[in-house]
Amino acid sequence: MVHNNPISDFANQYLEREEQYGAHNYHPLPVVLNRGEGVNVWDVDGKKYFDFLSGYSALNQGHCHPRIIASLIEQAQKLTLTSRAFHSDVLGEYAEYITEYFGYDKVLPMNTGVEAVETALKLARRWGYQVKGIADSKAKIIVCRNNFHGRTISVISFSTDDGARNEFGPFTPGYTIIPYNDLDALKTALQDKNVAAFLVEPIQGEAGVIVPDEGYLQKAAAMCNAANVLFVADEIQTGLARTGKMLACDFEDVKPDILILGKALSGGTIPVSAVLANNDIMLTIKPGEHGSTYGGNPLACKVAITALQVLKDEAMAENSAVQGLRFRKGIQEMKHGNIGLVRGKGLLNAIVIDHPVENTAWDLCLAMKDRGLLAKPTHGDKIRFAPPLLITGTQIDDCLEIIYQSLQSIS
Ligand SMILES: *Cc1c(COP(=O)(O)O)cnc(C)c1O
Repeated sequence: MVHNNPISDFANQYLEREEQYGAHNYHPLPVVLNRGEGVNVWDVDGKKYFDFLSGYSALNQGHCHPRIIASLIEQAQKLTLTSRAFHSDVLGEYAEYITEYFGYDKVLPMNTGVEAVETALKLARRWGYQVKGIADSKAKIIVCRNNFHGRTISVISFSTDDGARNEFGPFTPGYTIIPYNDLDALKTALQDKNVAAFLVEPIQGEAGVIVPDEGYLQKAAAMCNAANVLFVADEIQTGLARTGKMLACDFEDVKPDILILGKALSGGTIPVSAVLANNDIMLTIKPGEHGSTYGGNPLACKVAITALQVLKDEAMAENSAVQGLRFRKGIQEMKHGNIGLVRGKGLLNAIVIDHPVENTAWDLCLAMKDRGLLAKPTHGDKIRFAPPLLITGTQIDDCLEIIYQSLQSIS
């Protein structure tokens, strides 16, 4: 597997140990990291890289952001967990901060992204029964083909990726799958009176950074509103300045009825996710009906406040927009025969490799790794480029040069 790209014997020990004792549910690039700072990471042999994955956009603020780490350490020395059986002195502060930040009445704090998605699905169903008046157990939720919303059984129940589903059934019912970026299909699906919500990624990240047509989100949200159906945006990957605005929905002035956040909400430190909604939706869940031991813990609350502050204080959305344009322009100007396409928004980008050899995207990632840039193929022939949002223009230019040299080396 690592034939044309041997790593040092020293680094290989880490790989082998992981392989022997860890489950084999991932296929990582052969690189072993032990340090990160800003846009860079270092491997165990001391080699420096640009991180163009950013922990799948969990590291928007960069590795080990000093302010986020300071908040983490400070709160870790005071109080880390109360559980929701008791109050803490920071949950209220966080709830007020994040709801004002995004303009919602309430927040429901969770940990991982998929838990927040599950929470949104529960909220949508509950709202469907209590507010919309759908008959018991009849609620449906519309989702899109090629979605990625996480890995629990309910969430993979409406995945269309065989790799995510095979032999994990039986699945949870209640989902209608329509093509992405297809308003006619949405219109048809919305005719069903039992539909409670439409769950959508504003840009499909895992599918290979699929950007829908301009106006899609706004029209979809308006159609949902007219049909008395909740518009639920999964901004776990697209949100928090990644695409050049605070939320990808902001490009079309869409305010989701339910907003799902995760990943960069903690700046890549600990799992922190959140569901935001107004009272008419959020208050349909009563005490004891949903929760999580770690959800809303004081450590997470403090870290999330700082992670959100950093995004604004350092104008990361603005920088993402500027550097994203520079990156896509640079790729286009290469006019390289092996690049079929570059697409994206802000610093969430992907190239599609156009090459007869099947493993070319993987080989290109190995070639880039050799030259000091880390990225990962997604769905075979696509490579996502999503560096931390504090990357500078000069660094983008250096990275474009690395990408170009790597393309040359594999053609
Ligand atoms: C990563 C991701 C998730 C799942 O988040 P986890 O923290 O891995 O559970 C859900 N939706 C989208 C759009 C994501 O990118």
